[in-house]
Amino acid sequence: MSVVLEKKATPIRNPFEVAQRQFDIAADALQLEEGIRIKLRVPRRCLTVSVPFELDDGSWRVVQGHRVQHDVSRGPAKGGIRFHPQVTLDEVKALAAWMTWKCGVVNLPYGGAKGGIEVDPKALSMHELERMTRRYTNEIAIIIGPEKDIPAPDVYTDAQVMAWIMDTFTMRQGFASPGVVTGKPISLGGSLGRREATARGCTCAIEEACKHLGLQLQGMTVAIQGYGNAGSIAHDLLHARGAKVVAVSDSRGGIHSARGLDPKAVQAHKQNAGSVVGAPGTDRISNDELLELKVDILIPAALENQITEENAPRIRPKILAEAANGPTTPDADPILHENGVFLIPDILANAGGVTVSYFEWVQDLANYFWTEDEVNQKLETIMRRSFADVVSIAEKNHVHNRTAAYMLGIGRVAEATRLRGLYG
Ligand code: GLU
Repeated sequence: MSVVLEKKATPIRNPFEVAQRQFDIAADALQLEEGIRIKLRVPRRCLTVSVPFELDDGSWRVVQGHRVQHDVSRGPAKGGIRFHPQVTLDEVKALAAWMTWKCGVVNLPYGGAKGGIEVDPKALSMHELERMTRRYTNEIAIIIGPEKDIPAPDVYTDAQVMAWIMDTFTMRQGFASPGVVTGKPISLGGSLGRREATARGCTCAIEEACKHLGLQLQGMTVAIQGYGNAGSIAHDLLHARGAKVVAVSDSRGGIHSARGLDPKAVQAHKQNAGSVVGAPGTDRISNDELLELKVDILIPAALENQITEENAPRIRPKILAEAANGPTTPDADPILHENGVFLIPDILANAGGVTVSYFEWVQDLANYFWTEDEVNQKLETIMRRSFADVVSIAEKNHVHNRTAAYMLGIGRVAEATRLRGLYG
């Protein structure tokens, strides 16, 4: 008698393997031909650089930086730059691939890219941060540019960092080049509405999901993990629409109040104390507890691998809106789907950021700037249309929303790749 021992597959946590797994599922559903499949599974180009810079005490430090261009068949590469101690080349490769599919989902004429530096920016002074950013820009300048690859903000980078990138690139060129980067300050050719764009796009997708499910956003309870570019502004926008945000968190921990959290009070506390933790009138909770709260809407707005096969059975919001990139692992997806969680996948939920980046780039190239209303209206049109496209693919093909979004994004990139063929 033979005993067959069933070996449990180790769950995938490496972000690039996660991205490839998600790609494979959608490629199967699209019955993508082998050639296109093997081409789109891997990045076009990865550049790793050493970034030496001077610390304030006169000593030198060297950190590793990366810029990955995943695909450029539909236009120049586009995607943010993150400064975080956990950055790895594989993470940047995953984030670049997700940018390609994201630009495909919302139908922008871009391919995908991402950059990152393996550093804790909170441990650097403002001058150190500037010197590091400028040297990194100099090292990747050989592959970026308004027609080639256009960086933007991501985790722990902001408009000031973009201004340094723009200045460094411009000084190298010898003429103003505002279109080399998006998410800039308004006075340097930034776009009105860009700072709020990721949260606004996410809020718009949530409104569409509520309509689709026959729910009223007003009065719904919300938990938000992460209080940066996306999370803190989502708090504002959802509060303004009458939703009750009962829990938020940042890297130091979370806070909860059953009565609801006032965004102005929490933001003021974070400004002074450096964290949302300890905001008056709130109870402390952990980031893990926040994810498992009984809420109507859950918004992961921090890092990857937060919702896994381990905690997914206990995560049961009506709507899960992924403002972060890659917060849910492939093994968690079927669990959430079976439990009836309505997923707005990252490449749709957070696509508002790159959409308004595209508007910024168009305005820079034309030297003609739009009003905030124009920006917001155009953003909402794109978000609503893309939401409808994803849901209709999900229904037609009996797949969940992540696979549907991938089918939409990958389908567009595959078509461009097929039409162009191979060079050389
Ligand atoms: N970092 C953002 C993202 O992950 C924005 C990228 C961009 O605007 O290019 O989508």
